[in-house]
Amino acid sequence: MPLPRPIYEELERVVGVENISDRPYILAGIRAAMPGGPKPPSPEAVLLPGSTEEVRQIVRICNRYHVPYIATVSSLIQFAYPSGPGTVMLQMKRMNQIEEINVEDRYAVIQPGVRQGQLFTELMKVGLTYPVAAVGPAGSVLANFACSSGDNHGQHGASRTNRYLAGIEWIEPTGEVVRLGSLANDDGWFCADGPGPSLRGLIKGFAGQWGGMGVVTRIAISLNAWRGPRAFPTEGRSPAYQIRLDKKCHKVLIFKFPTLDQVRDAMLEIGKAEIGQAVLKYFYATAALLATESANEFWELWNSGLFQKELSLPLYVFLSTWSPEEMEYEERVLRDIIAETGGEAVDEQVLRIYEDNMDFFMLVGFLQRVLRLGGGWAPCKLSADSVTHMFEVAKAIPDFMTEFIEQGKILNAPNNFQIIPLEYGHSAHIELLFLWDRTRPDAKQIPMEFMRASIEADIKNGHHGTMPPGIPAAAGALGHLYSNSQRWAQAIKNAFDPQGVSNPH
Ligand SMILES: Cc1cc2nc3c(=O)[nH]c(=O)nc-3n(C[C@H](O)[C@H](O)[C@H](O)COP(=O)(O)OP(=O)(O)OC[C@H]3O[C@@H](n4cnc5c(N)ncnc54)[C@H](O)[C@@H]3O)c2cc1C
Repeated sequence: MPLPRPIYEELERVVGVENISDRPYILAGIRAAMPGGPKPPSPEAVLLPGSTEEVRQIVRICNRYHVPYIATVSSLIQFAYPSGPGTVMLQMKRMNQIEEINVEDRYAVIQPGVRQGQLFTELMKVGLTYPVAAVGPAGSVLANFACSSGDNHGQHGASRTNRYLAGIEWIEPTGEVVRLGSLANDDGWFCADGPGPSLRGLIKGFAGQWGGMGVVTRIAISLNAWRGPRAFPTEGRSPAYQIRLDKKCHKVLIFKFPTLDQVRDAMLEIGKAEIGQAVLKYFYATAALLATESANEFWELWNSGLFQKELSLPLYVFLSTWSPEEMEYEERVLRDIIAETGGEAVDEQVLRIYEDNMDFFMLVGFLQRVLRLGGGWAPCKLSADSVTHMFEVAKAIPDFMTEFIEQGKILNAPNNFQIIPLEYGHSAHIELLFLWDRTRPDAKQIPMEFMRASIEADIKNGHHGTMPPGIPAAAGALGHLYSNSQRWAQAIKNAFDPQGVSNPH
């Protein structure tokens, strides 16, 4: 159903002829989602707005003619595609300015098209940083902080990105411009809450609205101090590059444990001691994908059994300190904890992979390698709760995963989950990744089947393992575990988007 010509022309008058298209080959490129994922409906037109005012006008036109719309940047996730036919896509990449870096008050004001690789490297130059999702350098910082999930490799010593929102400029689903927090009183970008009751949670609570609540046009994020150099000391060329920071103040240590309980205990103790920048129980098959440059190399490594032996139940720790003395202290405390909890160092060749690519703990340059085998990224769980609860969720994974492995539908990698603590162990996040066999005739069904089994296991066990997703049926099924949050979400959606045009599901 092509967009009626008069509506197209009205939109064209807003962004200019250069910044709108409904040509079939352009739309074909946009609807080509990740190969492993479901094929999304094609948008009817794509627009590249250049300012908040243009976005406002587009949203108003969409409301006037009941045209669904969705804002996206990199479309690295299935929810960044139209949820139904007749949609126009606002591709936000033209709005790519870092508007301000405030070194004194430690915040940065950014537009939606600012990429992780762009902001991170600018901030390094002035001794500042922020938690970067492991999505890769091309991901949008704003989409991650305000619209999607937000977990990251460094959140043990920092937090999820939603905790860093310091100001929001938002075009409501109906086209009103709203500025939240201190910005509402022209007091600048230092606080996203108030005055009065905070509206921040309408945009992002634990997760964002996945394009279902208007368009976020600018945000401010709080910044942390950066302990590294002003530029990455990179050697070699991509994909075979190395980034090693000075070992006096930056050190990777990786340990392996006989049981999950011991990994949990070590994680909790490290949190209590408030040491370390990054602490992760990381995925071993995903790690093998990241460590290799081709599918053949992956299979060689995986079939060697090295990662199963060394990284089935690991704890990765990245220490980052201001001084060698502080490093000495942190390392001593860490080694005591590991000795007390029964861990031992992993094989040197495994450790070297991370020593040579310390960017893994900051800005993972090669993350898209995880898409190599299946062509898709199909995460399960994604919720957060106490560290202990996340380990209970993990222990229950074999109950539903074994069947899929025995049927040959997914790779035999039952420990391919990560648990990353937040804020020195005050809570933790879990993510389960599975690699499915895309040569099977039923390959397309496997991801949904597996995710359903994972959700059903959480419901059966009363586990807070799965983040209620943007799919109403799944959110409804999980709702009773989360105070029926789906009912509140729907009521808010109905109130703010009466036409149901902001990426309706
Ligand atoms: C391999 C892989 C690894 C990942 N790892 C992580 C991870 O470690 N941590 C994590 O948090 N996420 C991760 N993700 C999920 C997701 O891709 C990220 O959250 C990412 O930051 C989103 O950025 P993007 O540029 O891809 O946004 P998009 O994919 O373009 O958009 C993400 C969502 O935000 C909405 N959106 C985008 N811009 C706007 C806007 N201006 N206004 C309103 N809505 C908007 C979109 O509609 C969509 O629903 C990963 C994804 C992949 C494929």
